[in-house]
Amino acid sequence: MSAQLPEDLRRRAVALGERIAAASYVVAFTGAGISTESGIPDFRGPRGVWKTMRPIELSEFLSDPAARREYWRRKVEGLPAMQSAEPNAGHLSLARLYEAGRLQTVITQNIDGLQQKAGVPDEDIIELHGSNTYVHCLSCGRRYEWEEILPRYEGGEHEPRCGGCGGWLKPATISFGQSLPAAALERAGREAERAGLMLVVGSSLQVYPAAALPEMTVRAGGEVAIVNAEPTGLDHLAKEILRGPAGEILTALCADLS
Ligand code: NAD
Repeated sequence: MSAQLPEDLRRRAVALGERIAAASYVVAFTGAGISTESGIPDFRGPRGVWKTMRPIELSEFLSDPAARREYWRRKVEGLPAMQSAEPNAGHLSLARLYEAGRLQTVITQNIDGLQQKAGVPDEDIIELHGSNTYVHCLSCGRRYEWEEILPRYEGGEHEPRCGGCGGWLKPATISFGQSLPAAALERAGREAERAGLMLVVGSSLQVYPAAALPEMTVRAGGEVAIVNAEPTGLDHLAKEILRGPAGEILTALCADLS
């Protein structure tokens, strides 16, 4: 597959793989772009979701029944594609680096659970924007599985409430206007500062505070490498920028592990 990459890019990917193998502590920071090759559209890329749809903010979800129903409608409509998606060469390459001891932690903005499916254990993945793989109560935090919620939704509960406290249920992703989970953010900050090398994959690096993480790595003396199809908001910080498809670049980057 990596044979399709332009030779110069392939060589630079191999060189970055060598730097990763030699680095003291490596953290990957992934965004929606690592999952587009699994058929899940990103938000800000050329075919991103925001080109056709406005996001529903948390305040609207809480105050406006129509917005709440529309939010649930979109989530349920997108669920089969999200649940049937499989990890691609990018996720699998990160899992191989992890298994080889060359990658310690994955921090992700993604909500699709694909890095876990690729084989990186949950405890070494930090999900900054929550997860679409389950539902929770916004008031008491109780967790619900989709297997329970979907039949309730299809049975007519289009604004489902918590069986325990009556609070609003919502897929466990972070909406605009909703705070990031504090513990995950703190742990991500510690990992970013510890990283000798942070490998950013498939993020436009436009969303703060998550995009502050590569800045923390650089301030603490580490280096940042970016693999992305387009320019990002933090290209000026990066020691290495590989512009192209994440799956092929990451495959080339860990070619010596095959
Ligand atoms: P983004 O949409 O802002 O940026 C994605 C970047 O990835 C773009 O710059 C695009 O050029 C690049 N890209 C797309 N396909 C690529 C590929 N095959 N190879 C290399 N680069 C590629 O994504 P973001 O920075 O992660 O932030 C968006 C927000 O969207 C996050 O909050 C995240 O929670 C959410 N989101 C997640 C998913 C998911 O879980 N898969 C999908 C859509 C959005």
